[in-house]
Amino acid sequence: MKVLLIGSGGREHALAWRLSASSLLTKLYAAPGNPGIAHMAELVALDVEDHAVISRFCLDHAIDLVVVGPEAPLVAGLANYLRAAGIRVFGPSKAAAQLEGSKGFTKDLCARYKIPTGAYGRFSALEPARAYVREQGAPIVIKADGLAAGKGVTVAMTLEEALEALEACFDGSFGSAGAEVVVEEFLTGEEASFFCLCDGKTALPFGTAQDHKRVGDGDTGPNTGGMGAYSPAPVMTPEMIERTMREIVEPTMRGMAEMGHPFQGVLFVGLMIGEDGPKLIEYNTRFGDPECQVLMMRLKDDLLVLLNAAVDGQLSHMSTRWRNETALTVVMAAKGYPAAPEKGSIIRGVDLLAGEAGAGEAEADEEIKIFHAGTALRDGQLIANGGRVLNVTAMGANAALAQARAYEAVSRIDWPEGFYRRDIGWRAVEREQQ
Ligand code: AMP
Repeated sequence: MKVLLIGSGGREHALAWRLSASSLLTKLYAAPGNPGIAHMAELVALDVEDHAVISRFCLDHAIDLVVVGPEAPLVAGLANYLRAAGIRVFGPSKAAAQLEGSKGFTKDLCARYKIPTGAYGRFSALEPARAYVREQGAPIVIKADGLAAGKGVTVAMTLEEALEALEACFDGSFGSAGAEVVVEEFLTGEEASFFCLCDGKTALPFGTAQDHKRVGDGDTGPNTGGMGAYSPAPVMTPEMIERTMREIVEPTMRGMAEMGHPFQGVLFVGLMIGEDGPKLIEYNTRFGDPECQVLMMRLKDDLLVLLNAAVDGQLSHMSTRWRNETALTVVMAAKGYPAAPEKGSIIRGVDLLAGEAGAGEAEADEEIKIFHAGTALRDGQLIANGGRVLNVTAMGANAALAQARAYEAVSRIDWPEGFYRRDIGWRAVEREQQ
């Protein structure tokens, strides 16, 4: 099979690594890709916002499957456009991607199908939203309805903070994403991410993870795209997975099909696990980044076989096998991230690491991988070219061992202009020590 992978982050590097190991693959292209992906795919400089250009490339190169990594092309309807041209795509339609693209859509679905989630109100004007917030009191959560690159959510601990966040949404700080606002009950418990591969009818559980959103040690400082992650999430016991499937995922799949938007692709279920069980915080309609990296380390099966089954509506015949060990990834970011990352600094030592994914000889059972995100090559040297730059990922018999191995690998990378959190996985490590 000839496959085109859309995206350029660490998530896509991890996907490219597993796709390139597939027995079904004959040729992998990536648009636009990155220097790590270049070791396992042919990079093509296509504008992923230009659906006609992508479609033409697929037809000209007889692409058998397009795998879409990030959310923006899905919410923009790339999958619809390609399918209309007869091209097979792994990823949801524009209507199904509303599960991520519109928080209000998802909350209404939850209400209709009695899916456990926080109580909420939906508003398109400031005054009624203000009145609702005053009535509910703090802490409370303010969310811009649309995609806001992870910045549209304010967990307000005081009324003042909540009112300020409302004003920011309605004064256009998030562009059209903030024209509508969801105000939501503050949920308590432990957060976890749960993934399913979906074929429109069947959802196949596809692993659990926990990530670290805040930039600083001890979960402090501003939110980021994610500074690290590990899999599995200890809080997601078999019983909790079974409840999440029954109470949240299955009604969602049924609801989407009944509404005429069957969901095909990755359903990323953001959960709060409280005393009374799992509650939905949000859906994403693609793999998480960096959660994907740790899932791909643990997956034993042929990824392309599974994605094909999802596209063909055959997931009810499939199962998955996972390594029992823990996978943990540490994100190395450029100083200044998330506000203003400095680009252009030189990174040394990446190719010195055993099992480095960029070496082009990656095998499924290697214990350390370095996935590239915002990197570039300049005169043959690796440089920082974004906020999150490298994902140093390791397997270990438990979280403590995976953590030690990942940080040992980090210490061998010579990049003074980079930084990373030193406590990725702390919660799982603490749990092991109890
Ligand atoms: P989201 O973009 O919806 O994932 O929200 C970003 C982060 O805000 C989540 O990962 C949670 O840590 C937090 N959050 C979102 N909604 C709630 C809620 N209802 N209660 C508590 N925390 C929340």
